[in-house]
Amino acid sequence: MSDNKKPEKITAVKGMNDILPADAPLWELFENTVHSVLKSYGFQKIVTPIVEDTALFKRAIGAVTDIVEKEMYSFEDSMNGDALTLRPEGTAGVVRSVIEHNLVYEGPRRVWYKGPMFRHEKPQRGRYRQFFQVGAEAIGFTGPDIDAELIMLCRRLWDDLGLENIALEINSIGDAAERQRHRADLIAYFEANIDQLDTEAKNRLHANPLRILDSKNPAMQELVNNAPKLLDYLEGESVAHFEGVKRILDHNNIPYKVNPRLVRGLDYYNRTVFEWVTTELGSQGTVCAGGRYDPLIESFGGKPTPAVGFAMGIERLIELMKQAGDMSEPAACDVYMVHQGQAAQMQAFVLAERIRDAGLDVVLHCAAASGPGSFKTQMKKADGAGAAFAVILGDDEIANNTAAVKAMRGKEGAGQQASVAFDDVVDYLVGQIVGDHDHDHEHVHYHP
Ligand code: ATP
Ligand code: MG
Repeated sequence: MSDNKKPEKITAVKGMNDILPADAPLWELFENTVHSVLKSYGFQKIVTPIVEDTALFKRAIGAVTDIVEKEMYSFEDSMNGDALTLRPEGTAGVVRSVIEHNLVYEGPRRVWYKGPMFRHEKPQRGRYRQFFQVGAEAIGFTGPDIDAELIMLCRRLWDDLGLENIALEINSIGDAAERQRHRADLIAYFEANIDQLDTEAKNRLHANPLRILDSKNPAMQELVNNAPKLLDYLEGESVAHFEGVKRILDHNNIPYKVNPRLVRGLDYYNRTVFEWVTTELGSQGTVCAGGRYDPLIESFGGKPTPAVGFAMGIERLIELMKQAGDMSEPAACDVYMVHQGQAAQMQAFVLAERIRDAGLDVVLHCAAASGPGSFKTQMKKADGAGAAFAVILGDDEIANNTAAVKAMRGKEGAGQQASVAFDDVVDYLVGQIVGDHDHDHEHVHYHP
């Protein structure tokens, strides 16, 4: 590049974020925790593509929803003209997959997924255009027991993450016939108060009046609060199902609030709906939303199969973890390998591999733009990396077939240095690090 003009910088797409190394330990901790909780309830992982046919989402989510109306990243495949969409949520792909691979015919299944979702929303705190969800779907189960189990799984996750202020709201939206009767009364009620509806509500009045109940417009809150409640329209089996969910939650001391206004934005939900909400994230306080969607699989041409699931927003949960936990300690490694001279560098590679064979984490010093770095520079790097030990190789060590091992951290012994025979270094480190009974070999220092 000979001319003086600096090349223009390219930045990330608006609303799509990098997850930087400083936050990586927290994401890893979240992921490990959620994986182990899901496993402890017998859920198996499923991975579906990020891109699907646009028709899939239109059908699964419903045309008169925020997502399909205005949030989807849809595009035409420039090679063949296919109508494709970056997935805005995970359930549609999972349902397509279990039908396509006949998994629904093999009996009930518990599956979970994780990955990026895409919605063209106005970026703000807790709301992004690319965001991550982890979700679970229990397919083929009819009763209220599985609904309660999914809720209890979430509760266990919050506990394991040390998150305290997440409250449960539940509701039942009944079945299609019950919603139909409620809908007629709801439309009549809103028509009688048409002057109080905002434009969005007016547009939804006949297409999806239930969604008006979800309105966040402060001017409409009183109107919405006094609207006919779907819960009052439930009969027989729907009532029994909802009572069944509540009975299990009560028996297990899971507190909840019945929120009659809680509805799901997606068309195919029925019966149980739930949300986990916190007041600690400003206005984007819902960290997890779930519910039953018994009619969906049949509407996709599959054998009629009941299902229930949830999805949680990982960014919002990470934000809560940041607020709850002390992440001040840097991510650390066991050993930083310091070396000077070519012979020492060669031996450093050999020794680093041997230490890794023993299960320890090693950062080997490598040359930077400024050069290979003096001993002093390298020791600073060892400190910055949060290493427990520096293993030092220079001319003297090579001549004597030894390594200098310096303790960098710990109550006693920080700064202490020992000369260890080259072949004994691995045992020495293992003894110091793993032998130390309160060393849990966990590098993330997170104290909720
Ligand atoms: P909202 O009413 O806030 O738009 P939603 O009903 O669209 O929520 P769901 O489709 O139920 O949300 O998604 C489940 C969870 O995923 C949400 O509770 C939230 O935690 C997270 N989520 C949804 N949209 C976003 C987004 N744009 N950015 C970050 N997280 C999101
Ligand atoms: Mg939304």
